[in-house]
Amino acid sequence: MPASKIRAEAVLMPDLIIRGGTLVTMDPGRRVLQDAEIAVEDGIITSVGKSGDYNKSKASEVMDAKGKLILPGLIDTHVHLAQALIRGTADDLSLVDWLQHRIWPLQGSYTESDGLLSAQLCVLEMLKSGTTTFLESGLHRRYGNEAIAAMVEKSGIRGILSKMIMDSGGYGGRSGIMHPGMVEDKDACISEAVDLFKRWNGRSRGRIGVWLAARSLGGVSPSLYREIGRLAGELGTGITMHLNEVPEDSRFSMTNYGMRPVHFAKSVGLLDQRTVFAHMVWATDEEISILGTARSNVAHCPASNSKLASGTARVPELIASGVNVGLGCDGAPCNNTYDMFREMRLVPLFQRKRLMTHGAIDPYTVLEMATMGGARALGLQDKVGSIEVGKRADIVILGCERPAYTPSIDPVSTVVYTATGNDVDTVIADGLTVVKDHKVLTLNEEKILTDARHTIPKILERAGIGGVSDLLRN
Ligand SMILES: [Zn+2]
Repeated sequence: MPASKIRAEAVLMPDLIIRGGTLVTMDPGRRVLQDAEIAVEDGIITSVGKSGDYNKSKASEVMDAKGKLILPGLIDTHVHLAQALIRGTADDLSLVDWLQHRIWPLQGSYTESDGLLSAQLCVLEMLKSGTTTFLESGLHRRYGNEAIAAMVEKSGIRGILSKMIMDSGGYGGRSGIMHPGMVEDKDACISEAVDLFKRWNGRSRGRIGVWLAARSLGGVSPSLYREIGRLAGELGTGITMHLNEVPEDSRFSMTNYGMRPVHFAKSVGLLDQRTVFAHMVWATDEEISILGTARSNVAHCPASNSKLASGTARVPELIASGVNVGLGCDGAPCNNTYDMFREMRLVPLFQRKRLMTHGAIDPYTVLEMATMGGARALGLQDKVGSIEVGKRADIVILGCERPAYTPSIDPVSTVVYTATGNDVDTVIADGLTVVKDHKVLTLNEEKILTDARHTIPKILERAGIGGVSDLLRN
């Protein structure tokens, strides 16, 4: 980055003090501070303590957080930027039919401006609901990824963009079912991934990252999986991949490779790299043990797994075996929000129902999944995930005016069981205020929402999905 640009950014960084409120630090001491104070200089947290600790004359801005809840910015470890625009278009299908008959035809009919608009809508929703870092699950060339990366940079959010890599248009044993608009050539995928990495990885003081996204089983040959692993190692970057999401994954793996999905992933080298496996619903005890030994990362997506009728991931068992578990909202058509607070709430509800014990998982562990768990998965644990001196200032402030916040006995329990993204009133990302009084300052919300409403009927038309377009016209 040229020196002039670094200076320009530094000038934009206000010195900031956040004063008052209840601070859930998520630091190793699990500190929760009442009447707290946080000082931020040049995007870095320089002081965390009690109100009045810091020399106020140093701050150009003092933010009053009295009566509010302060948290680290949330980290979504499984996001499809391109799916925000097709929210509500595939509400009642299970995974493979959902992909084949709705998601792929719709995304395969996108123009570059549709891809950018969807990404804008997604980032807008994430920022407004307190997500300050995300891992994208797999970008297609047709989305216009250069413009998406520039938008992510401008929005102020911290994002890892992953380019999808494939050499087949199938899912599991159902070969050739992918919409032609979504099928990409292997060499073109790799060259775009490397180009994106060279241009964008590490930009904006490390706020933008670029990883590789391996398509699911049936979409990538074993030799290409090995190549993806080698390339990630050479670039020093990460990989993300959907795995063990539905029983079709293990059926395909057993039939074609004579082993279960995690054994296969290990055999092609994916456990040797920083890989975030999304879902992992159907992992057996042995697979969980292999993932634990490898200290692998799993993105748990409870809303998506339930809405698509995929099953319930064995989260307490994964954590007990040593797997690092983060949380993911997945995509709008399988959720239908990118609200990490709503996602957190589902984790203890589903796990306690599944195991029929309140001891299945506690709220602190759930909030840890959405903060430090996500940071560890992305290799950002020294930068974000908690409010500690020396870390980047990614901070969320929740208003607590709703009746549902009264009384609030335990702030962590309140965050997990009560809060929604609509309660977020302020978001600071990398030291800059990007949401204030519920308004995103870095994106044009009104224009994005208007454009989205006008654009979706055209996409449905191009994709030839009559049922939903008829609904929209009525
Ligand atoms: Zn996904």
